[in-house]
Amino acid sequence: MTEKIVLKYGGTSVGSGERLVHVAKVVKNIKETTTPIVVLSAMSGTKKSEGTTSRLLEAVQEILKPQSQRYLHIVDMIENSHLEAAIFALGNSENKQILEDLENDIRGECQKLRSFMAAAEIIDEISPKSKDVIVSMGEKLSARLFTAVLNDQGVAAKYINLDKLITKQFDASELDQSFYDYLSLRLAEEIVPYMNTHVCVVTGFFGPCPGSLLNTVGRGYTDLTAALIAVGIQAAELQIWKEVDGIFTADPRKVPRAKKLRYISPEEAAELTYYGSEVIHPFTMEQVIRACIPIRIKNTFNPDGSGTLIIPEGHPMTPTTSSASLSNAFSRHPTAVTIKDHVIVLNVHSNRRSVSHGFLAQTFLILDQFNIVVDLISTSEVHVSMAIGKIESEEKLQKAIENIKKFATVIIINLGRFTA
Ligand code: ASP
Ligand code: MG
Repeated sequence: MTEKIVLKYGGTSVGSGERLVHVAKVVKNIKETTTPIVVLSAMSGTKKSEGTTSRLLEAVQEILKPQSQRYLHIVDMIENSHLEAAIFALGNSENKQILEDLENDIRGECQKLRSFMAAAEIIDEISPKSKDVIVSMGEKLSARLFTAVLNDQGVAAKYINLDKLITKQFDASELDQSFYDYLSLRLAEEIVPYMNTHVCVVTGFFGPCPGSLLNTVGRGYTDLTAALIAVGIQAAELQIWKEVDGIFTADPRKVPRAKKLRYISPEEAAELTYYGSEVIHPFTMEQVIRACIPIRIKNTFNPDGSGTLIIPEGHPMTPTTSSASLSNAFSRHPTAVTIKDHVIVLNVHSNRRSVSHGFLAQTFLILDQFNIVVDLISTSEVHVSMAIGKIESEEKLQKAIENIKKFATVIIINLGRFTA
């Protein structure tokens, strides 16, 4: 048996009939030498906001708006774009049955979705579970479509839908590593029976998930699904296919001299992800690194490129990699720079009526109360300066600042729209 490799394709990589055909060719090629397992995100254009998942989330909002039935229009749009991609990819096929079955399935799934949404509209309620059912449609359609395209290219492919992945009860407020271990096990159970005879095409969505997948994991969950599959089936590598050659020393669109990194450590990749480079979902890294599986970032537009390899410590070197070059790559030089937009800087200066250790504790207690996450921090005994990225609401930040002002002076930099 050849090495097992998990291949994850993002929405843009499979965003049209043309892209689907291209990726199917890439997978067919990879299959010559390895056992690939494909995990797909929902189809998307270059703008995430116009992708299938965003449209489904918009539909969720519309269901609860009185008098609006715009959600039906959104489902029509989704149905049409998938049918269009199906016809582009399979319209000239000699095997007419593949397209016919696919079209029936797309129409059938969309019809089920309309009925489900209409029911939610009547009871005027969308539970986290219902939201999962609605959002899961994006990955179901892309995976079903891609399976047909592979079949059409003569590759035996198996569509794997993860609707029934979770069969145990979990408390949404207490999800820990044991939940992810359970998922890896279950994913392996779903995939292993077909893996050696078929290319498994798995939906990036799994669920319904305790507390809803979007609340528990958030957008970009397909990376995590792919990682958990890699762990479950003990894959040799997890490949995340994107539209860039790998991870760069800086954003190549802004810095023309930016260089692609051949290797990067998981810690560095995680830092880049947290600080603005949308490389990979942050939960992904931890899971594969625990299992000592390398991640490779590859480019769908340049399948022969070597990409960037994220190698966990202690992983045996690939034969082509000399340990000298790797230790060079991990030497203590800055690896890359990244930019994060919309950052607010808070400079908090103690008014010295409180003792200094109490000052820091109080400041962070208040930030915690208002769910404010600090990205970077620099402190002295009476001064703390911090960069804050995403905030839940301006109101919360405003309240936190008011409270801090009771014992310190607060100066806000980069405030943009925000005033306090
Ligand atoms: N399609 C989903 C999203 O846009 C999941 C993913 O892309 O991983 O968040
Ligand atoms: Mg993504």
